[in-house]
Amino acid sequence: MHPLAYNHLKKIMEDKIIVGSDETCDYYPCHFTGQDCTWCFCPFYPCEDGQTGGEWVKTKEGGRIWGCSDCYWLHKSEVATALMAEFKKYGIETVDDIEKRDDIKKIFAFLKKKFPPNKRNCSMQNAESK
Ligand code: SF4
Repeated sequence: MHPLAYNHLKKIMEDKIIVGSDETCDYYPCHFTGQDCTWCFCPFYPCEDGQTGGEWVKTKEGGRIWGCSDCYWLHKSEVATALMAEFKKYGIETVDDIEKRDDIKKIFAFLKKKFPPNKRNCSMQNAESK
C-alpha cells in the first residue's frame, strides 16, 4: 500500500469517524460536490471492477494503473458510512487488517449489492460540477 494511503487509512481506522465533505482539501471536490471524503484512499484499491466507474489507464511509461477518478460510488455518503459499519461488524480495526483479511472482498460484494454503483445515482448537478 502506498504510504499516503496507509497514513490516511490509519487515521480513519483509529478515529472511526465519517469525514463527510472535506472542503479544506486542495483537491475538493475531486469527484463531485458533496462527496464524502472518508475513504479518500480506498480500502478496496485496486478493486479492478469497472462497474464502480474505475478503469485501467495507461501510464506514460507504457504500463497501466487502476484509476479511480470516475468512481463516485465510495464517495457517496451512504456507502462510506456503510463501509465503516461493516468494518466494525467484522472487527476490522487497523490498516493491517484491511491488507490481510479476506473479508474485505466479502464486504465489497455486500456493499455493491446493497448500493449498486451507478454514477447517475449522484446528483447530475453535482456530477456536472466535478
Ligand atoms: S474504483 Fe472505487 S471502489 Fe474501486 S478501488 Fe477505486 S475508489 Fe475503490
